[in-house]
Amino acid sequence: MTPFRTFLKRHVLWVGFIAAFLPLLALMALQYNSLVKLEAASALAGEAYLKNFLEGVFDRVLYFYRGNSERVLSVPSSYLIQGNNHKIAWHFRKKEVEGASRLFVMDYTDPGQDRLWYYDAASISMLPANRQPESRSVFVACAPFQLMSRKGTSLEPPTLVVDEKDADNYMILYPITDEDFQVVGVAGMVINMAYFRTRLLPEVIGETLDKYFRDDPELKPVVKVIDPLDEVAYESDWLPDVAYGVSRYFPWVFSHYRLVVQSGYATPEQWARSNFIVNLSLSGLLAAVLLGGIGLAFRTVSKELKLSEMKSDFVSNVSHELRTPVASIRVFGEFMRLGRVTDGEKCEEYGEYIETESRRLTQLLNNILDFSKIESGAKTYSIEPCDLRGVLAEVLKTMEIQHRHSGFNIHYEEPAEDLPAVRIDCEAIAQAIHNLLDNAVKYSGDSRDISVGLRREGDQVVFWVEDQGVGISRSEQKKIFERFHRVPTGAVHNVKGSGLGLSIVHHVVTAHHGEIRVKSEPGRGSRFSIFLPINEVT
Ligand code: ADP
Repeated sequence: MTPFRTFLKRHVLWVGFIAAFLPLLALMALQYNSLVKLEAASALAGEAYLKNFLEGVFDRVLYFYRGNSERVLSVPSSYLIQGNNHKIAWHFRKKEVEGASRLFVMDYTDPGQDRLWYYDAASISMLPANRQPESRSVFVACAPFQLMSRKGTSLEPPTLVVDEKDADNYMILYPITDEDFQVVGVAGMVINMAYFRTRLLPEVIGETLDKYFRDDPELKPVVKVIDPLDEVAYESDWLPDVAYGVSRYFPWVFSHYRLVVQSGYATPEQWARSNFIVNLSLSGLLAAVLLGGIGLAFRTVSKELKLSEMKSDFVSNVSHELRTPVASIRVFGEFMRLGRVTDGEKCEEYGEYIETESRRLTQLLNNILDFSKIESGAKTYSIEPCDLRGVLAEVLKTMEIQHRHSGFNIHYEEPAEDLPAVRIDCEAIAQAIHNLLDNAVKYSGDSRDISVGLRREGDQVVFWVEDQGVGISRSEQKKIFERFHRVPTGAVHNVKGSGLGLSIVHHVVTAHHGEIRVKSEPGRGSRFSIFLPINEVT
């Protein structure tokens, strides 16, 4: 295997983590970058949107007046030249128009006398203008055309002209020209101001607002029209706190009127910022969830890897633990079968050895079988009344030979008072005590003193096993009850074990609603105590 592949295999978790984390980081950076750009663009877009709305209103007003006046004011010059006022009146009648307070025709066909005719809708006729209030304004407004007519200036093509000199009588004029584009008259309309303010503006602004803000009604701005005297000619709504706005003069008719669009929601910058914050928070949340997921996966995989490592350690540990006693038993068995051991004492010694080792093997196999039952959830306990002293005495008896052989002094502290018979699974509790005693022997180091005891403490009974051995560090004390866990350093390394003993003790004690506690100091020994409630088990 190449060094690179070995590296990958050894650090597979970290490689996986980095492989998932780096793209996420890059994605977040890109996201942040584009959100910053979007914020700037949104601010501009917010303002541009209001301006667009403004243009939308202007276009419609322009279209209304230009379209109407082009249609109605295009009076054929022949009617004027022939002096056929009747036809002119019918022309106005047919092209009837809204928004005009008066339609008129200025006649320059007679150079000696300019005549002004007003259209009378009631009689469908053209009446000579008398002293109507707007007549003077009409004469003044048409004066440039009168000059052209006098001078014979040709006007090609004739165009609509707006006259706003008289604030009360805005006019739209359309010169009437003959075939040679000589001005022979002017057709015009006096704009109905009340119609503009009370009908046209509400209609146009209402419809444009609807068109632009139908999807976001909460962003709807206030729209005002301010007249040349700075008074409000029209107001769409009342808004207490205006944050910002745009304003512009009407482009054609009403060019002294201002359209003001104000938003109370927020400035485009504030609006863009709040969008930015919402988007960023969402991205942050998403990243946190993803990171959490990666972290969780990382933790699970690392746990699984550790467990699989522990399992393979377990297999090799168990094989080691099995090999030595099995080999010894075989050798001693062979000696006896071949009759090589004739000495009675030796025979007894070998026999004891075989018995001790077989007991240990049985204990190990019991632990493995129990563990497998616990893992599959098939472990059951048969609870029955038990004499606790008897259980402890039995365990001590089965281990006596082993203790004697290895030179251990077991100090048994008898309970000071009579203990009640309790309901427990005797075999399981015996196995738990056996595991604790076995550990005390294994981890005693050079010490040969172990004390064992049993006593009542309130409504509990306590079994304890205490050694003067290698001890366990505080950080390890929390982990030793986990399956397969073995303290990884120090003298413990030299001792064989499966890493199952304490996890089984823990399971048994918990199943009896009891508690297992450890007090230990590295180099000074350990004391394991099993607490069982009397109430629960009696
Ligand atoms: P093992 O088969 O390894 O003894 P256990 O589950 O019985 O497995 O114990 C788990 C670990 O706890 C042991 O490997 C050892 O490191 C530590 N341990 C258990 N009992 C003692 C003790 N009395 N003194 C010191 N360390 C102990």
